[in-house]
Amino acid sequence: RVKDAGRNGVRVFEPEWGTRSNRRLALLEALDGALASGEFTVHYQPQVCLTTDRIVSVEALLRWNPPCHGAVSPAEFVPLLEETGAIVPVGRWVLGKACRDVAGWVARGAPVRVAVNVSYAQILHGDLVPALEMALADSGIDPALIELELTESMFGQEIAPVAQALDACRAMGVSIAVDDFGIGYSSLGHLKRFPVNVLKVDKVFTEEIHRKDRDAALVGAMVTLARSLGLRVVAEGIEVAEAVEVCRVLGCDLAQGYFFSRPLPAADVEALLRQDAAAAGAGSAA
Ligand code: C2E
Ligand code: MG
Ligand code: MG
Ligand code: MG
Repeated sequence: RVKDAGRNGVRVFEPEWGTRSNRRLALLEALDGALASGEFTVHYQPQVCLTTDRIVSVEALLRWNPPCHGAVSPAEFVPLLEETGAIVPVGRWVLGKACRDVAGWVARGAPVRVAVNVSYAQILHGDLVPALEMALADSGIDPALIELELTESMFGQEIAPVAQALDACRAMGVSIAVDDFGIGYSSLGHLKRFPVNVLKVDKVFTEEIHRKDRDAALVGAMVTLARSLGLRVVAEGIEVAEAVEVCRVLGCDLAQGYFFSRPLPAADVEALLRQDAAAAGAGSAA
């Protein structure tokens, strides 16, 4: 990032440095009050069962449309929310919104499970369990419809508060998924220690799975591991039909990715759920 020491040994910084920190500051400023101003929405991406080809669940993905910037990726703004602690109220809002949307779909005859991403900060602040209790009580949905996705890096943090929060969630009937499995802090000891139900295989392992035997072998080993621990496997980042087939053969339970659908607004995903149910009904009638 820093150019070689120039004449007189003076270091010349790339102009983008200044731009990048200006952007960071501008985004931090814009994020302050974004929740109150209603700038966040939640999109949903289908997860398809590889045995039945039906959509059985959706992942809730936060979206932010600030008035004075274009849409900003959660990969960029979620870390900023985590840094300022604003992920606590925003994460609480996402849980509430996802549960309300599922309640609506259930009521209108398009039932589906929902997976919600959770940050370590929500657990550390002691907000995850009460937020979940409130979201469940307000929406009245069955807790078995909820899955919480935790990134593996979370398991590298202080263990006791995470274990305690996850035990409480499990006791409510909510399930737990390890997101981005296989990258970051991949400690098998943590899998033994935490009450996990699902492994989500990161897309670095699936994006070339149909072209690289090595990647297929790695995912096959993850499926074997998951089986021996009684866990389900979700393959993330599936973009092509060939990758679906390899994941199916390897024994992954669910697959998620642009091949099936991009993340969609709530109304669009509801239409997709209806279409999926109608197609399945037509299939069984035939
Ligand atoms: P993630 O939980 O691993 O979510 C999967 C990401 O992969 C999503 O990016 C999704 O749009 C993208 N994706 C899905 N299918 C494909 C595919 O076939 N190809 C490719 N290349 N990408 C695909 P997104 O929506 O930009 O979210 C990025 C990350 O931001 C998420 O990664 C998650 O870690 C975080 N995030 C999103 N929403 C929330 C939230 O409500 N709370 C927290 N704490 N984090 C969130
Ligand atoms: Mg996720
Ligand atoms: Mg992931
Ligand atoms: Mg990710």
